[in-house]
Amino acid sequence: MKTSRNIKNKQTFRRYMQEKLALTVTVIMLALLALVGVLYFQIKNQGAEYNQIVLSHQDYESRTIPYKRGNIIDRNGTYLATSQKVYNLILDPRQILNTEDDYNYLEPTLDALSICFGYDKEALRELINRKSNSSYVVYEKKLSADVKDAFENYQSEKNDEYIKAPVEEGGRNRIVGVWFEDEYKRFYPYNELACNVIGFALRDNNASGGVEQYYNDDLTGVNGREFGYLNDEYNPERTVKQAVNGNTVQLTIDVNVQKIVERYLNEWQATVGSKVAACIVMDPRNGEILAMDTTTRFNLNDPYDLSMYYSPEAIAAMEASDDTNAKTEAWYAMWRNFCVNDTYEPGSPQKPFTVAGAMEEGTISGYESYVCGGKLNIGGWDIRCVARSGHGPLDVTQGLMKSCNVVMMNINAAQGAEKFLKYQKIFGFGEKTGIDLPGEADTSGLVYTAESMDSASLATNSFGQNYNCTMIQMASAFCSLINGGSYYQPHVMKQVLNEQGAVIRKNDARLVRETVSENTSAFIRNALYQTVSGVGGTAGAAQVPGYEIGGKTGTAQKQPRSAKNYLVSFIGFAPAFDPQVVCYVVVDTPNLPGEEQAHSTFASGIFAKIMTEALPYLNVFPAGQATLPVDDALAQQNEGIIVNETEPEVQVPETMEDGSPVPPPVSFDEEFIDSGQEDYNYPDAMPTGLGMEEPIEETQENADAESGAKEAVLQAE
Ligand SMILES: [Zn+2]
Repeated sequence: MKTSRNIKNKQTFRRYMQEKLALTVTVIMLALLALVGVLYFQIKNQGAEYNQIVLSHQDYESRTIPYKRGNIIDRNGTYLATSQKVYNLILDPRQILNTEDDYNYLEPTLDALSICFGYDKEALRELINRKSNSSYVVYEKKLSADVKDAFENYQSEKNDEYIKAPVEEGGRNRIVGVWFEDEYKRFYPYNELACNVIGFALRDNNASGGVEQYYNDDLTGVNGREFGYLNDEYNPERTVKQAVNGNTVQLTIDVNVQKIVERYLNEWQATVGSKVAACIVMDPRNGEILAMDTTTRFNLNDPYDLSMYYSPEAIAAMEASDDTNAKTEAWYAMWRNFCVNDTYEPGSPQKPFTVAGAMEEGTISGYESYVCGGKLNIGGWDIRCVARSGHGPLDVTQGLMKSCNVVMMNINAAQGAEKFLKYQKIFGFGEKTGIDLPGEADTSGLVYTAESMDSASLATNSFGQNYNCTMIQMASAFCSLINGGSYYQPHVMKQVLNEQGAVIRKNDARLVRETVSENTSAFIRNALYQTVSGVGGTAGAAQVPGYEIGGKTGTAQKQPRSAKNYLVSFIGFAPAFDPQVVCYVVVDTPNLPGEEQAHSTFASGIFAKIMTEALPYLNVFPAGQATLPVDDALAQQNEGIIVNETEPEVQVPETMEDGSPVPPPVSFDEEFIDSGQEDYNYPDAMPTGLGMEEPIEETQENADAESGAKEAVLQAE
């Protein structure tokens, strides 16, 4: 019994012990698990902080090594945009306040900062004491290398002196806890020059507009990082992942040609001036843009400064206004690149395209004769020619030379809408050129289709009214017209280079399509040479001494017609029989009343000045004194047409309202609009987008770019 009872007791005891043990183990396990969990979350949430503490105890930390944004250079390697290394001054209060081993850091460091930078010592002392637990206080940003070097030299010399000095004479003084962090600052050496093409990237590589925006991916690099850590022996070590700098974008732009263009657009703006004037200089042999300028310029180093266009009161009013977009809209208006972002009715530069298309289709041979009676009744409209009393009999070349609307309307009536529109498409009107700049205006809804075209619009389209284009469309199409028919995609980027200067991408001439035959191109070259140099041509003001120049004037009436505002233009090329340079000048709404705006010489005069300087610079050789083939028949037709004799009807005030000098007297035959003349009777109708092949992409960029064009359409409706 005893035995069995003892056994029973033993068994009970053992079970009791086992249960207790299991409970204890479970409790310990749970406690351990909880501890691991807490530690895990601590490390996970505050790992960075722990690392920082550990590293900063060792005076080691992890820091970003900023990349350098790539340069933008012109075709000859001149810097248009670059990034300069600047330095942020960092204070380490914890180190400065350290007094271990009787070292004295605070006073020597305060003295050095005060001597080298002129900082207020007491303000610094207050800051260092207030941030005594910190090792990283950014005290001043974007210091130059000179200032930084001066401090570092002073620091090292002074510390050498301290080290050599006996303790009682400052032997334990040291300048410590001041270091410099690299940063880059974007810099544009030419300020305003080509601003609308270059764009800017001042804030943390955030690019706005132009090449900076379009080629942002090429220009952007990758930040590097420097890590501090403790190795196996608990010694601090550093590992550096170097930054990868951005690539250099080399443009087709030539700074010197750009400067020439800027000078003469400025000269125009300082005299008569206009709402805006713009110019594109292009190489017709490959689509390279040599210069592109718009008179609404701004300083790339200070792109938010509106003071060039608004008074301080007006800027203050914008800031006070409830309209939070007021300032943004003012900025966007200033940053626009008219050459690419804006659309307009081109006027007479369309005429050689009308002729070329009709020749390609065999509608005309180029040797037809027409009689201009001053107007043509089409679709119920009496649509007028530039010459009130008519040009009389003219052949096709003379039609271009005189810029006769009646000849063009007759050609378009003969070929019909389908063929005309086929060539509008071939020449790229209504289609983006794909130029490598942001915000190219979409004109697909601003040209007619076969369905939307009526006879009056076909007539006015023949001389460049009632449809819209952009300057870059016109310039690119024109290049193909006179270069033998090769349409090259316009572009501003020549190549992309890596940091070592090796070419990693080239933007060679890209032939998009053939537009016209060499025969047609040769006919147009000659006709446009006659327009500038022939007797009675309308573009004598575009002549450049020593050079054979070809070109076409334009005086387009703007929408709404009743406002009597004009866009005058000239597109020309040299040498006339071997084109190497095309220059297109547009003057939108000269600062003159009504028809006094409508003188093509405003634009052809600017063209001549630009080309007179640009051609020799570009190594285009003069042709010598070319003798002009004089056409007797044409010479006789001059009488009673557009010649100087009819000019006095234009009333020119002695000085402008603002006191600036009056425009120069008209000394050549030109395309101009006689103020005494009855209205042109150009319809206001514009294509409304019906029958569009592709919907307009509704991006903000497009909306911005097209707002002007849309207004015109609305006004017409
Ligand atoms: Zn005419």
